[in-house]
Amino acid sequence: MTPLAQELARLIRDEGPLSVSRYMALALGHPRHGYYMKQDPFGAAGDFTTAPEISQIFGELIGLWAATAWRMMGEPAPFRLVELGPGRGTLMQDMLRAGKVVSGFREALTVHMVETSPVLRERQRATLAASGMAPVWHERIEDALDGPALIVANEFLDALPLDQFVLTPEGWRERLVGLDGEGRFAFGLSAEPEGRMARAAPQGAVLEQPLAALETVATVARHVAAEGGAGLFIDYGAVQTGFGDTLQAMRQHGFVDPLAEPGDADLTVHVDFERMAQAGRAAGAAVHGAVTQRDFLLALGLEQRVAALSRRAVPEQAARLAAGASRLVAADRGTDMGQLFKVLALADPRLPLLPGFDLHRLPEQAAP
Ligand code: SAH
Repeated sequence: MTPLAQELARLIRDEGPLSVSRYMALALGHPRHGYYMKQDPFGAAGDFTTAPEISQIFGELIGLWAATAWRMMGEPAPFRLVELGPGRGTLMQDMLRAGKVVSGFREALTVHMVETSPVLRERQRATLAASGMAPVWHERIEDALDGPALIVANEFLDALPLDQFVLTPEGWRERLVGLDGEGRFAFGLSAEPEGRMARAAPQGAVLEQPLAALETVATVARHVAAEGGAGLFIDYGAVQTGFGDTLQAMRQHGFVDPLAEPGDADLTVHVDFERMAQAGRAAGAAVHGAVTQRDFLLALGLEQRVAALSRRAVPEQAARLAAGASRLVAADRGTDMGQLFKVLALADPRLPLLPGFDLHRLPEQAAP
């Protein structure tokens, strides 16, 4: 048993079964034993790989997106470039480098990072040491927002805890994490059904309630609607709300039982982009997308970027660039990033449609 598993088992014996959100929050964020709090989980030697770690082109295109959005905002100076859950800091590093081509952009911005993990904060500091910027770290989003802002979050919402409910003949019951006869973690259901929830679902349906993600999105939306700017959320999930248990655990690039190794495996959920968009709209922002990551990156000029970088590269480098870029947009199977990942922007309603969301102006179709 992991040290965290022992602590959680004690908690369940003392206080009763845990909600899925409490289990997830402790597995990921326990101050000493939480998954993100004690280690750097990324890369080939880690548990999973994210888009910025696959290809520099991902961050470069998002940097150009941000610089273009900043121009559409009327080039406010100063303004904040904020990243939520920046991992190793690679996305921010690539964004800042690419943003150099838009004059005045880098001079106008200050970098703000929202990160709870001390290990990853150190890693981000090292990555950005040569960038010439002086990033400021925050525990909470609210503290990172002040004035016009562009907020970027890649694979952040999927790490925020949610609750689950299951439809039984007596109504919706909350899914809880308890202990079985042998002292192992097991899912169970609350004794009392939830009275207030609608019933239009098949028996056994699982309904997820992503309160922390919805709050995050609403905070960003409220801020940009009032102070100017936009938030960009990239993650895996569906464009339309559906039923189903999406809680998953990953270790060494494979799926494992979410209850087996709390603190030692990454725990995530799929993002419900329809509900995120609704929360953003309700908070006063305009909704752009969601579109697939494939459509978004191709519209931003992924292929042109690969071609431009390849002209200056030796053949092996060019092959690596092409392979990385194609992983970002591949859409052959349901698990490929291009189709599974979606991109949603929540923007100040005074802004025009942001780059990447106008699917009628794909680069291939643009006038020469
Ligand atoms: N964006 C990065 C990392 C994604 S992993 C990438 O694409 O590579 C999720 C990140 O969010 C990690 O940096 C993790 O430490 C951070 N994180 C998780 N929960 C958080 C929370 N509640 N507040 C702030 N950061 C959080």
